[in-house]
Amino acid sequence: MYSMGIDIGSASSKVVIVRDIREIVAACVVPLGTGTGGPVRALDAAYRVANLERKDIDRVVATGYGRIHFSNTDEQVSEISCHAKGAFFLIPSARTIIDIGGQDAKVIRLSPEGNVLNFAMNEKCAAGTGRFLEVMARVLETDVSQLAELENGATEILPISSTCTVFAESEVISQLSAGHQIADVVAGIHESVAHRVSGLVGRIGATPQVVMTGGVAQNIAVVRALERAIKFPVTVVPKAQMTGALGAALIAGGM
Ligand code: ADP
Repeated sequence: MYSMGIDIGSASSKVVIVRDIREIVAACVVPLGTGTGGPVRALDAAYRVANLERKDIDRVVATGYGRIHFSNTDEQVSEISCHAKGAFFLIPSARTIIDIGGQDAKVIRLSPEGNVLNFAMNEKCAAGTGRFLEVMARVLETDVSQLAELENGATEILPISSTCTVFAESEVISQLSAGHQIADVVAGIHESVAHRVSGLVGRIGATPQVVMTGGVAQNIAVVRALERAIKFPVTVVPKAQMTGALGAALIAGGM
């Protein structure tokens, strides 16, 4: 029995196909989100990898910000439920999930059985999200995937005082034109994201094991800054960006 999860986010589209709610047979991501050709491209890639067609898939669940605009699914499920299901499947000792995506951040608390006990969400503001990092990467003329490496060799963490992304961007431009080391500026950028997200964690309370999902989990410097901010070790879920799609596929399979 094959089940599929499709997670249509603001920044990327993810598709996971699971066999017998046990084995992942495809996990594909396209860095284009809702309103683009990303969802269809991610679907095509997953069918190709799994060597399957739509008719072979028994059930499909869609999640993510763009889920309501996507037809051809059996059910739509919230990102909270899907990240909880996916993270708990991969790390059953997970009790706190931190998901930082393209335009929001969420903190989810799980019971020992993997049920959602509570959650907090920042969806009103780009600060503390992947979008903030994308804006800063553009200022630094680099790609978000290079940001963690750019922090290497930092000798201090240059603070960013603005809580608004637009003002923070001006602040970073001023730091760079004042001749500060790029590594120190980048350390401040990562610290700023960690600070914002740790505020959300504070609303829920961190219970170990703390795990991280979502695209920003690929930035190890943000993960380290979060560990400093919340004073707990943070484990990155394998294929962190795919967690929501995996959870959707598991829910589609009846888990
Ligand atoms: P959404 O579900 O909202 O589309 P994702 O969970 O896919 O968001 O996360 C997207 C964010 O992940 C981007 O805004 C970017 O900051 C970050 N990101 C994406 N790819 C990478 C990468 N290779 N390395 C580090 N960060 C990345």
